[in-house]
Order: sequence, then C-alpha cells, then structure tokens
Amino acid sequence: MELTQERATEILMENTFAVGKEVGTEDTMVVFDSWSAIGQAILEANNLDEQTDEELIEEFKEKGIEDPENYLKELKGGHVKVGSNDFAAFPNGEPPFRDIYYSIDDIMEISDGNRDNVYLGFTDEYTLCDKCCGIIRTSPDSYHWVPNYVDTGWEYICEECVKSDPEILFDSVMNKLKSLPDVGIDIEEHGWVKVNDDSLQNGMHEGMADDPEEVLDAMQENGINIIFDVHPSQFYVEFDVYVKEENLDKAKEIFYNTAYELPYEESPAYLMQKGLKEATIKMGELSDSKIKYASVNADGTADVKSVSAEDFINGNM
Ligand SMILES: [Zn+2]
Repeated sequence: MELTQERATEILMENTFAVGKEVGTEDTMVVFDSWSAIGQAILEANNLDEQTDEELIEEFKEKGIEDPENYLKELKGGHVKVGSNDFAAFPNGEPPFRDIYYSIDDIMEISDGNRDNVYLGFTDEYTLCDKCCGIIRTSPDSYHWVPNYVDTGWEYICEECVKSDPEILFDSVMNKLKSLPDVGIDIEEHGWVKVNDDSLQNGMHEGMADDPEEVLDAMQENGINIIFDVHPSQFYVEFDVYVKEENLDKAKEIFYNTAYELPYEESPAYLMQKGLKEATIKMGELSDSKIKYASVNADGTADVKSVSAEDFINGNM
C-alpha cells in the first residue's frame, strides 16, 4: 500500500519527540527517543505493526530475504539506511531495506514533501526552545561548536527568542565561568567592551595556562561584572574578557595586575604529560593479555584497567 504524505506525517508525530525546523537553519529535524522508536515507525509505515514476529518472518521469507530472523531484529532496531550515512547492519550483504519496504529515510522524505533537507536526530542531541518550541542542537558536533541558544539554568531559549530580549543572554553568562553562546548578538552594541588586548589561552600546548577563575575573582572583589567570550579549538581554547564600558579603565588596571596564569605544575600541558606518564607506567604493570584501557584525569593522575574484547567492542568500560 502506498504511503501518503499525511500518513507518513502521522506516523512520525506518533513515534518521535519532535518534528520541525531546526532553529537558524532551513533543515527539518525528525527527533527520535531511540532506535526502537524508528523501528516502530518503519513497522507502521509498511503496515507490519499488527503482525506477530512469526508472521513477519514468514513474510520476509516469501520476499526472498536471506536470514529473515536477523532482518526482523534489524528492522525493529531501526537499523536501516539513514540519510547519507549507511547505518544498514546487514552483515550478510542483504539488499538495503528500502528496496523492499519503506525505510525511515523514505518516511521522512515523503512526510516532508520529498525535499532532501530532512535530517534525523536523537533526544540526547536535540531539545526544544522553551519559548517557541523550535528544535535546537544541544550536543557538540565539532570541536569549534558553540551553543546557539541560552541555557538559563532552568530553560533553553533559542537565538530567535533571545533577540527580542538580549538581557536574557547577558544574565545567563554574567560573572560565570561560562562562554557567551553564539546567538547572533553583538555584545559591543549593548555597551560591553573588551578588557584584554591579546586573547587569553588555556589548553594542551605548553604555556597555555590562563585561568579564567582568577580573572573572575579579581573582578568580583572589585564589584565589576564580566562576561567571557570563549573561542574553542581542537586542543585549546582562547577567551576574551568583557565589561561594561563605564568600568573599562578600572577593569584594565585590575586585569593587568592579576596573576591569572597558573604555575607550571598546575598547567593543563604539564598535568596531561604527568597523566600520560602515569598511564604508561600503570599499563606496563597490568599482566593479563586483555585490552588495556587508560584514562588520564584533569588532575594529572591516570586510571587503567583490563577490558575483555567483548566489553571493549560494546563500550562497557
Ligand atoms: Zn525560541
């Protein structure tokens, strides 16, 4: 039976956390809670949801599908071709799901009117703006990702909603060790000015040990409100310090009289080096032949353990 746009939309509405525009893009996001919710949508779209497992396996056999039991398992787990990423878990080289039944791609595309800018996501990556219910991404997708929403501590507010009340933005980051989100607001237009000449740095390269906490404490002691603007990179971050224009002179004086660089023994580069050394020594002391797994902690220590191949593959560490 042909899947209509209306039915496809209905199925998505029933089985998803949200369907709609991702704020700040032209993309339609279809946000699921789990892979099994995708499996359920596929079953419904193909009118397979009323049948028992035995009946489904029989139907797959009739369609000439090799290993129908595994096919059913994959179908219920939602493991089918999704967008440009091939999630198809068909180890025996079976034909892609969509050749026989509607895949989740098909369902999304039909629902969206066959446009190709419809994407799939999960609730651990996306949530809703608490004001307009637009979909916002909350998990980083690259090392230079910064949020395009404000997290007030009790609600998420998207860039579109923040624009009508920029004070929400300043209140959410002022006097906190938090970065200014990228919501398209130029803070200098709102009376905030940069205190430092060169950006401060903190990261894995030697000499990058500027500590924002020292700067924050020094400004707080003098009753000056500050905002940090952080620029993330792969192995370090750079950050700038902003104050209100009327406090600039005083803030500059405080800033340049504050020892904000951590001592070498407390710098991230030194602590990483120390942790890596400890990890190497501890791994050498593990006697069994299992996979050796080490994690280096921020305080320069390291934890190591032996993991079986099975646990390693399954991520049970
Ligand atoms: Zn919003």
